[in-house]
Amino acid sequence: MKHGFNSLAVKGILKAGDVIIPGDTTMPRFSQTTFIREFDRISEFMDPADRSGFKLLMTLMAFMPSVVILFILKVASHHQKFPDFIGAILRQINLGMKGVILTMYYSGIGEQGDAILQKLNYSTAINTPVDQDIELENLMKQNHPLENYAPLNPKEMMLKSRQAHLDISALSLKERVAFITRLRLVLLERQEEITDIIQKETNKARTDIMTSEFFPIFEHLEFLEHKTLEALKEEKVATPIAMMGKASKIWYESMGTVLVISPWNYPFYQAIAPITCSFVTGNATIYKPSEITPLKGLVESVLFAAGFKPEWVQIAYGDGKTAADLISERPQKIFFTGSVGTGKKIMSQASQFLIPVELELGGKDPMIVFEDANLARAVKGAVWGAMTNTGQSCTSVERLYVQEKIYNQFRDAVVGEASRIKVAVDRDGDGDMGHMISPKQVQIVADLVKDAVSQGAKMLTGSSWDFKSSQIPPIVLEGTTHSMRINKEEIFGPVLPIMKFRDEEEAINLANDSDFGLSASIWSKDKARAERVARQIVTGNISINNVMVSEGNHHLPFGGVKDSGIGRYKGVMGLRNFCNVKSVMVDADSKKIEANWYPYSPKKYELFKGLTTSLFTGGLKKWTGLVRFGLPLEGHSQKAKRE
Ligand code: NAD
Repeated sequence: MKHGFNSLAVKGILKAGDVIIPGDTTMPRFSQTTFIREFDRISEFMDPADRSGFKLLMTLMAFMPSVVILFILKVASHHQKFPDFIGAILRQINLGMKGVILTMYYSGIGEQGDAILQKLNYSTAINTPVDQDIELENLMKQNHPLENYAPLNPKEMMLKSRQAHLDISALSLKERVAFITRLRLVLLERQEEITDIIQKETNKARTDIMTSEFFPIFEHLEFLEHKTLEALKEEKVATPIAMMGKASKIWYESMGTVLVISPWNYPFYQAIAPITCSFVTGNATIYKPSEITPLKGLVESVLFAAGFKPEWVQIAYGDGKTAADLISERPQKIFFTGSVGTGKKIMSQASQFLIPVELELGGKDPMIVFEDANLARAVKGAVWGAMTNTGQSCTSVERLYVQEKIYNQFRDAVVGEASRIKVAVDRDGDGDMGHMISPKQVQIVADLVKDAVSQGAKMLTGSSWDFKSSQIPPIVLEGTTHSMRINKEEIFGPVLPIMKFRDEEEAINLANDSDFGLSASIWSKDKARAERVARQIVTGNISINNVMVSEGNHHLPFGGVKDSGIGRYKGVMGLRNFCNVKSVMVDADSKKIEANWYPYSPKKYELFKGLTTSLFTGGLKKWTGLVRFGLPLEGHSQKAKRE
């Protein structure tokens, strides 16, 4: 190099460069480019004083650990917070150093970029940031050619899927996550168009689609982008003392083909969330949407735009028979969301082939309001929790228990709040509650409400409903009991039965008096009491002083107990449930024979007995036992031969 840039300065440039551009699946790290060839040209244009300063700085950086360089850069990026002189130096570091490094990087990658990417085996489907935006724009414009997805029979689908699994599992975790990022960008770009399609098929309020389909999808995708690498990387675990010298670890590997079977209440979310969990864990997916809300072509279209190959996620349109036929083709896992009845059928069919099933089923969620709760907030929470998505949510509030002292006041406020709800399939967000999605569900809601009313319950709101129309108004019911069907079966509509309780014990008993256990909420200013009660509710999820919020956090696992299901998804735990969890032990390739191998002998038996007793008695004996029995056992095992 000209201008006296010695090897130390070059080392500093390499280090600082890799801190600024560490590289990822879409671009190589700084040191992997041919930047050095450009440096003479760039330094020619530098002011001699700047050049010397830069050389000195880079030489210093050669001696610094990368974390220190990172720290300096972080501080330098806040240069405006420092006094003039120091601020100017930091500005130089921030702009000057980054400027030179970035110029070198892009001139270095320019000529040889393709060759570098190929050498590093970067997928051609993923582009460098330079052209990513243009490429993405083109992809987003492409509507998905449905003919690429000509319907196949279940056998053909499974065959195709097995091959696809090999392709997907060969992608690195980083490469898979890059597809998730692109999917997020595609969905952001197409929000309005997708909302129109969902609304046409479901008659939901537009804000419901935004808050309970889109927003959670983005939270979920972001979770995958940030957590997949950490959740699925090789995990080292402890090795017991008796196995000294070995290493123990867990590998999270793909399973094969995951069959996702979904319901109709959140048709887009229930497609994207499980499909992407399955994909990042390296599985191929066959997705069977509900026949009531198939959103035909939409899921393929967004996946296609994000670069997914058609065979990676195949979509099987059809009803329960289609799903059952697919189960017969023996996928490696079934991820089912839907009703208890169907869940049982699926589990029974899957048991013939021992296919692992994850069942996300119905709920009958209780909400308990103590007299010291923030009542204004709890009233709004109760009404939203019962009516959001027109009550068609597995975790909607289906039983509201209010402490007797505040019951009348609370009930009146709930009635007031429910009466103000605007029922409309709006175009601009100006509607609170849409219509029901499925005529069959309208009939179920009508039957349950009629049954309760015939036994003395009173409709405090919603009495204008004709028990036929899918435009059900919010219904608040008083005077229901636990012997009525309305408090036993899932309503899945905009109906809120409100009941009284005396004390903590009665509230817990009432909440637990159900076959379901999906989610619940406790409202009280007394945090200790709220937690005490929450621990005694038999449920998979619980919120304190909020409603339907635990499922909103994608770092938390989600799932039910009792009839509400089996398994957990979401969070690290949920992601790992899409994996074959492989336990690995690695031993040195030594000549030694393990003490528990043949040949057995009376002496080996006695030594093992002594070792077992001392190891598991605890205390000091553990260590003395190792010397007294472990070492002789080891010696004996190496020498022992069966005569
Ligand atoms: P459903 O059980 O009727 O149908 C769900 C899916 O199963 C559909 O795709 C359907 O075609 C398929 N299916 C039907 N019969 C089948 C069979 N024999 N074998 C395999 N698949 C079959 O449920 P739904 O009415 O669409 O949805 C409403 C239910 O979903 C409610 O009970 C609700 O609580 C539940 N749900 C649960 C969650 C959760 O996360 N726990 C989320 C949303 C909805």
